[in-house]
Amino acid sequence: MILRPRLSNSTPKVMEEKEVRKSKTKMKRVKKREPAAAKNTNKLEEDMEDFFSNEEICNIRASLLCWYQKNQRVVPWRITSPNTSQVKEEMEEKDQYQLAQRAYEVWVSEIMLQQTRVATVIEYYKRWMEKWPTIHHLAAASQEEVNHIWAGLGYYRRARFLLEGAKMLVGGQSESQDAQFFFPTTVSALCKVPGVGQYTAGAIASIAFNQAVPVVDGNVVRVLARLKAISANPKDATTIKSFWKLAGQLVDPCCPGDFNQALMELGATICTPSTPSCSVCPISGQCQAFSLSRTNTSVVVTDYPTKVPKTKQRLDFCAVCVVEILDNQGPETQQGTQTDNVFLLVKRPEEGLLAGLWEFPSVLIDGEADLSMRREAMDCYLKKSFKLDTKKKHCVLSRNYVGEYLHIFSHIRLRMYVELLVLRLKGGKSFLYDKVENESLQWKCVDNNSIQSIGLTSGVRKVYNMIEDFKQTQLPLDSSSRKRKPI
Ligand code: SF4
Repeated sequence: MILRPRLSNSTPKVMEEKEVRKSKTKMKRVKKREPAAAKNTNKLEEDMEDFFSNEEICNIRASLLCWYQKNQRVVPWRITSPNTSQVKEEMEEKDQYQLAQRAYEVWVSEIMLQQTRVATVIEYYKRWMEKWPTIHHLAAASQEEVNHIWAGLGYYRRARFLLEGAKMLVGGQSESQDAQFFFPTTVSALCKVPGVGQYTAGAIASIAFNQAVPVVDGNVVRVLARLKAISANPKDATTIKSFWKLAGQLVDPCCPGDFNQALMELGATICTPSTPSCSVCPISGQCQAFSLSRTNTSVVVTDYPTKVPKTKQRLDFCAVCVVEILDNQGPETQQGTQTDNVFLLVKRPEEGLLAGLWEFPSVLIDGEADLSMRREAMDCYLKKSFKLDTKKKHCVLSRNYVGEYLHIFSHIRLRMYVELLVLRLKGGKSFLYDKVENESLQWKCVDNNSIQSIGLTSGVRKVYNMIEDFKQTQLPLDSSSRKRKPI
């Protein structure tokens, strides 16, 4: 790796020469200690024969910022930073409250955008900001309310962390704008907020507080890997560290927020994973992968970054029973279409997958069990948790297998077998309130109208829709079943 002379004063501090030397020495040390890591490091050294030159840095910054000013997507959380020369003065003039407010907006949007497409996030972001326009409003919210607004966005831990973070930052302060309120401005301080890692901290610090710190997400990795034709494993810790260094070298010290957003925007819209539009790319002149692809027909830009086989997702199986309870007094229908019917919902444990969210009664089962085994497992659960004996003590108006649904999580594929169980209980839903004694079990009965509007996860919403579709296909109850009486 060749060391270039120090850049001008405008070079971000993150890429000091001594850091380059330190990293070089470290790479050599790794070579002696760990052969496997050293192999990867050698590959990386080969790829990154040099960091960016001064000329490359200047060209990339200028081209990218110019492109971004003209081509950035219009999204509600994006406010273009003031131009370079005015930034410092304006920053000083800006009220601390305004900066904190901007930080809050960036924080919420960046957390929502993790693992989620921009188009999906827009409506969620608008709803969130209508409900909690400031961090003080959010800090006063309940987890239930936050889950409701977040429902369908997935990765629910993000919502929990946002609420925890808001409570932590605001403490016991009031909603008044005059309240002394401190929003961390540095990456290290931001990283202490629940759910905020290096990436989110870099985004908040650069976009809201104009600090010359880099961000590295999947889009940035792809652009950098192509710019420098890096073929080392992009998931490897050493390679990731080098991406941060490269991004730190590039970030514009005058417009760090815009530059970081521009780099990510380029990755999202031009330098896409499988069909990059190199012919309209503003930095193709500095792109080594593009240059290689033009001189060597066996090279394509999509060779970079190297594809790493995905870890295989675990396949789990689950029996889901939508328990619909008919009112004791109302007219009876087999599929329960009365408005005063209620559905039984159970709260998941506060830890683990979909923590603290509501779902229909569900039981994990071993492997692909058949219908009778799944029912046995479900009956056992309903009896133990709700004193519901589907064989003796209650009037089962109908029990139908509805279908299966595969829900994909990041690391799990969950095959859900769904059935609809319509019950008529003596005393209606109050039967459950009288019988259920387990205090650690949180549950509720929700009527047909409420279930349409409450925040449900996309998996639970899908199950509910399956039930609705199933009911549409069923014939009205025949006269014989009307003779049954509640027990
Ligand atoms: S030239 Fe092509 S591969 Fe290189 S950064 Fe631009 S879009 Fe990506």
